[in-house]
Amino acid sequence: MKNASQTKLFPTRQERELASLRDLSARVGSDPLLVQASNGNTSIKLDGILWIKASGKWLARAMQEEMLVPLELAEVKESIRTGAEIASRYAQRDELKPSIETAMHALLRHRVVIHVHSVNTIAWAIRLDAPEQLKDRLTGLHWQWIPYAASGISLAQEIEKAVASAPETDVLILGNHGLVVCGQDCHTAEKLLREVERRLAIVPRRFPKPDATVLALIARFSKWQFPDVGSLHALGTDAVSRKVLKGGVLYPCQAIFLGQIMPLVPPAVVISKSTESLNDKGGTPPFVAVERSGVMLNEKITSAARANLIGLAQVTLRTDESARLRYLNEAEVADVLSKGAHGCKEPVVTEEKANSSADTKELDEERTASAATASTVALGPA
Ligand SMILES: [Zn+2]
Repeated sequence: MKNASQTKLFPTRQERELASLRDLSARVGSDPLLVQASNGNTSIKLDGILWIKASGKWLARAMQEEMLVPLELAEVKESIRTGAEIASRYAQRDELKPSIETAMHALLRHRVVIHVHSVNTIAWAIRLDAPEQLKDRLTGLHWQWIPYAASGISLAQEIEKAVASAPETDVLILGNHGLVVCGQDCHTAEKLLREVERRLAIVPRRFPKPDATVLALIARFSKWQFPDVGSLHALGTDAVSRKVLKGGVLYPCQAIFLGQIMPLVPPAVVISKSTESLNDKGGTPPFVAVERSGVMLNEKITSAARANLIGLAQVTLRTDESARLRYLNEAEVADVLSKGAHGCKEPVVTEEKANSSADTKELDEERTASAATASTVALGPA
């Protein structure tokens, strides 16, 4: 057993590779255009061990806290073969539970795998014509389109099918979900990630400024605050963003953190006495968008919901008005919400509230409330 100073002076190959993965994870996780809160995951395969991000951890904090779970790769593959739930199998062994996407990471043959919820990729991956749109943009890369599948074994099986006849595949565009890139080492994988990002980059639309007078009417109620990120107002002031969001749920994290139906209200509701509905006890959404006026945040919005809201605004600002979109259907949304079928429905504690189980409970309650009651606010009569 080496002491800390020896480790620092003479790190083993494994230590160097894990350090590279942590470094990469922190860098990628700190980019809100790639990762929002606890979504996204990274892994490396070293000498028969799959080191994968733990469920619920934030990649951005990879340098501050341990978040890699070591799993026997052969055992994970056997679990996939028998259809056993990998996360629960390992939950007993260690405090950290492996990511819900462990099966996907295990089945990909490359040593390093990076999965992110890139807003540029998602803006393409929600389009019905995504495969056609991506063909020219990704030409020359070994990429595959993976139609939407629930996170976990279902998604891994779709990917396994797709790469079976094309083992050189190292870029996967996941419909209504995000991006996966692979490489033989961290440097190669990150370089490929940057290349895909460069090719799929979309300039966000400019959007009208918020109407501070109308929003101030909401701010009278202590529950609501002006957002500190200006781009969030686009969800209220940008007509295309509103139209996009009225269509439904574009990807799982949207439903999980922000509700099934967008809490969008006309200014008349804010001005009239109906404003009280925004202040109702027992279930207010994490945010409210006022048509043509902007967005206000619930003071109790969690940092995870806030990060996902910022991501959502960036996706809609990159969605072309003429694009025909594929929304998740009712069964898919129900599956995501009921089973926690996606990687982002993992226990998340906010930065300020780390290690508090009570706060985790509060977060879960808020998610439930936002999913169940957003429609009341959004669709209530003016
Ligand atoms: Zn994901």
